Amino acid sequence: MRLLAKLNPLPALGSLFYPPTCVVCWGTVEGVEYLCANCLSCAPRIAAPFCAKCSEPFFGAITQTFSCANCEHRTLHFDAAVAAYRSRGLVRKLVHDFKYGRQRHLRYPLAEWLGETLHDTRLRGRRFDVIVPVPLHAARERERGFNQATLIAELLATRLSLPLRQVLERIRYTTTQTAYDRAERMENLQDAFRLRKNRDVRGLRVLLIDDVLTTGSTLSECARVLKAAGAISVHAATAARA
Ligand SMILES: [Zn+2]
Ligand SMILES: [Zn+2]
Repeated sequence: MRLLAKLNPLPALGSLFYPPTCVVCWGTVEGVEYLCANCLSCAPRIAAPFCAKCSEPFFGAITQTFSCANCEHRTLHFDAAVAAYRSRGLVRKLVHDFKYGRQRHLRYPLAEWLGETLHDTRLRGRRFDVIVPVPLHAARERERGFNQATLIAELLATRLSLPLRQVLERIRYTTTQTAYDRAERMENLQDAFRLRKNRDVRGLRVLLIDDVLTTGSTLSECARVLKAAGAISVHAATAARA
């Protein structure tokens, strides 16, 4: 977190609207941080070894022929999906409070976690033309009052001085994914997304943003649509990963 703050000192804006206390325990924080050192140390990071394609961490010895159980027997259309944190414990709680508890200010620490993915070798030094948030169905967005992916993508776009474009739309209102097992979830996303009218992604290198990667199906489906519409590459970054 501190590293990113150094890389770009710009978004000290948060401290204008927010007292300099930890968003979890109200303890003292340093500078432009949103979490105190103690809470931050409780956020579970994704450590190697993990799947190069979907960042699924795995345990035990690695063999040359290793194939991630999450990626096996399926085509994931993004080039890579990167997360720096696991959606467990404190991370999971923050994501949940942000999304369902309407605590919009939590976009700041979540955007920091999202930003940490840029240090990953799969994204570091890579050039992107546009940042695209995963869309919610319009009815869902009205219900929630915001799109959580857009809120954190906006902060990242500002930090990277990249344009954010809402080029996708979600055209199927699906029931909440957590109620489904993996196979049903993938089935459920068929034709769920499309390119919005009059949007053009031909020749663009896209950085696709969502709050959490669960199975990767949502990001993959969005990447499929973007590539079918002519995007050169689609890398995905999320604040956390299941
Ligand atoms: Zn704290
Ligand atoms: Zn994988």
